Amino acid sequence: MVGAWCFADHMGPADVTENSGLDVGPHPHIGLQTVTWLIDGQVLHRDSLGSEQVIKPGQLNLMTSGGAVSHAEEATGQYRGTLEGIQLWVALPEGTRHGTAAFEHHAELPQGELEGAVVTALVGDFGNLVSPARHDTPLVGADLNLHGSATVPLRPEWEYAVVVMEGALGLDGQSLAPGKLGYLGQGRDELRLDVREPSRAVLLGGKPFEEPIVMWWNFVARDRAEIDAAYASWATQDDRFGKVRSTLPLIPAKAPYWQESQGPR
Ligand code: MN
Repeated sequence: MVGAWCFADHMGPADVTENSGLDVGPHPHIGLQTVTWLIDGQVLHRDSLGSEQVIKPGQLNLMTSGGAVSHAEEATGQYRGTLEGIQLWVALPEGTRHGTAAFEHHAELPQGELEGAVVTALVGDFGNLVSPARHDTPLVGADLNLHGSATVPLRPEWEYAVVVMEGALGLDGQSLAPGKLGYLGQGRDELRLDVREPSRAVLLGGKPFEEPIVMWWNFVARDRAEIDAAYASWATQDDRFGKVRSTLPLIPAKAPYWQESQGPR
């Protein structure tokens, strides 16, 4: 983990055609927020709260699962071209992880400039840029659109990581390219990024998360029993996760591996 950030999925770049897009059918979540940020293309979000929201580059979709939510991420049906983005998950703290689900769309986010970079605050505060997105623990997520080398201010008491989406960065004398997460730890008050080609990266940071989590499939919990219960609810389609109005088929959960290892019953 990096603060409460517990998952990063760099999507694409991929071609969206008449017949294919992101196409992630309805599936459940517990104990987390999904933070969706695109740098190219469009995605349609639908969830069990009844939300239906197209997201485009520069905008943020943020879904808070609380104790249970389900959603689908689909092609819009109209968009053709490249799709690229990142979906990040944030673990919810004890105080809100059993709470009600919620969804936010932010069509505009605060943007500022550093020497060498345009910075967008996705979640949390970056200097005087304050994102309107909900966050339940101290953290930051910021898009760095880099056209030259940059020095990024950090808080020594927080831990940080960098995910490169396009281009490549030099960081502590090492090269960081797409497909890897550069973990920076704590104790830095700034970060120097050496940039030789236009690059796009996401900075993740936060106060180290104090509650040990158990994460399996789409579930963030504190123990296996909570995950067993969520799995059973999805597998039996009881009413815990609600219904998503989607044309895509439900994504089935595989039984947690610790159930498999108990052998035949
Ligand atoms: Mn999801």
